[in-house]
Amino acid sequence: MTRMRLRKAWAGMAPRMSDPQYLFDQYPELLAGCMYEAPPGWTHGIDQALADVHQWLTEHDDLLEGWPHFVQIKEKFGSARLYLSPLACVSEDRQEASALFFELEDLIGRHEQAIGQTCQTCGARPSELCTRHGWLSTLCPACKSKDPEMTYVSESPDSQ
Ligand SMILES: [Zn+2]
Repeated sequence: MTRMRLRKAWAGMAPRMSDPQYLFDQYPELLAGCMYEAPPGWTHGIDQALADVHQWLTEHDDLLEGWPHFVQIKEKFGSARLYLSPLACVSEDRQEASALFFELEDLIGRHEQAIGQTCQTCGARPSELCTRHGWLSTLCPACKSKDPEMTYVSESPDSQ
C-alpha cells in the first residue's frame, strides 16, 4: 500500500527522475557524503530503495543508535550495489540486533536485485546482463541493439 502511494508521488516527478541530484535533495541524511556512481537508468529504482530504507529506519528508529547512511551507490559488473554504513542498535541483545541487521540487509538486497533487472541506460524492463569485450552492463533490447558489439551474457560462448 505504501509502495502504491509512493509510485503515484513519483509519477508526478517524472521529468526529474533520472537526475540523481533529486535523490540528494530528497534524502539528505541517507546520502550525506555518499559516493554516487550509479547509471542514469537506475535513478528511479534507487529512489524506491531509498524510500523503503528511509521508511524502515523511521519505523525502527527507537531501536537504533542514530541512522546509518549510504557510503556508496554504484554499478559493478552490471549489478547494483548499495553500501550502507554499519547499523548501530540500542539493544544489548545480540540476537535482536542481528535480526534487525539482516532485515535491513534483506530489504536492500531485494532492491539491488530489482534495480539490476532494469536497463542502466534508460530504466526499461525487462533487461538483461550484456557484455562487450568483457565489460558488463544491464541493458534492455533497444539499448543493446544500439551497439552491434554488445552481446547477451547468456548467449556468450564464454558462459557455456
Ligand atoms: Zn534501455
